[in-house]
Amino acid sequence: MHRQKRPLRAMRKRARRAFCEVMAFRAGLAAALLLGMPLASEAAPAAEGETKPAQAKLEIAGAIQPGGLLFVKAPPGTSALKVNGQAVLPAPDGRFLVGLPRDSQGSILLQADRVAAPPVQAELVVPRRTYRIQRLPALGTTDTPAQDWLDRRAREVAQISAAKQAAAADQTAASGYGQMFSRPAAGRISGVYGSQRVFGGLERPPHWGLDIANATGTPIRAPAEGIVRLAGGPYLLEGNMIVLDHGAGLVTLYVHLDRLAVKSGDKVKQGEQLGTIGTTGRSTGPHLHWGLSLMRPPARGGGQFAEMRLDPALLLN
Ligand SMILES: [Zn+2]
Repeated sequence: MHRQKRPLRAMRKRARRAFCEVMAFRAGLAAALLLGMPLASEAAPAAEGETKPAQAKLEIAGAIQPGGLLFVKAPPGTSALKVNGQAVLPAPDGRFLVGLPRDSQGSILLQADRVAAPPVQAELVVPRRTYRIQRLPALGTTDTPAQDWLDRRAREVAQISAAKQAAAADQTAASGYGQMFSRPAAGRISGVYGSQRVFGGLERPPHWGLDIANATGTPIRAPAEGIVRLAGGPYLLEGNMIVLDHGAGLVTLYVHLDRLAVKSGDKVKQGEQLGTIGTTGRSTGPHLHWGLSLMRPPARGGGQFAEMRLDPALLLN
């Protein structure tokens, strides 16, 4: 049975890779087209025998699709990178991390503003992504939670949010964001990013992560180097939970754990055990809910960082 499954899986993987290449090519082509516009005075053809200066361009890596995380390398002299006019913080390694939200679609303009040089632009074409939407009858009774439940929940939300804000505020604490991410646990994919349930027209929040189902006790390992910002619980919904900071405002979340093998403040290497799969909190069976968030600074400086929830599955190859 397994012998038959393997080639199919390899085929799917190849198909997926081909798709990514097509998208990368389309983005590259768009960039080239825009670069061909009369933006740069240095675009004049170099005279015979003269060394042609390297063409300034944006190098883009990552999945160009909703929920994807892009790594953008801007040309030398870049003072700011803007995504549809909004500036992005540079990562400690000088690249820019750009998240594509769940419902992004169509054209996105990247622009690198440069010191004493014309700006460089690239247009990304984000394809439409369809999500599994489950339409279910309206819930008969909606229980109003008790006040003590609400009070406890408010404290939990504040604690989890503070851990993410701490990661956002100190973007140089870890450098795992630059690594190739590995899968945090073995198991069956039982839930995907972006799917949503609608009860009688009432939309529940989308599923912000990837569910990996396996037996309680299955090890969960750090997909990349990081610093543990939170290892706590059990929380009412998340159960035992870990917030792992990979630097540059990139965090991964581990929810419904049976046991925690790390504590807040611990530094972990890629592959180091974080805990084990469980079914704590609001969960119907043992699985890991794996989330990925990019914390972005507020538009006008000061205040809290905003959380952009991305698809961790797109980080894996
Ligand atoms: Zn989940």
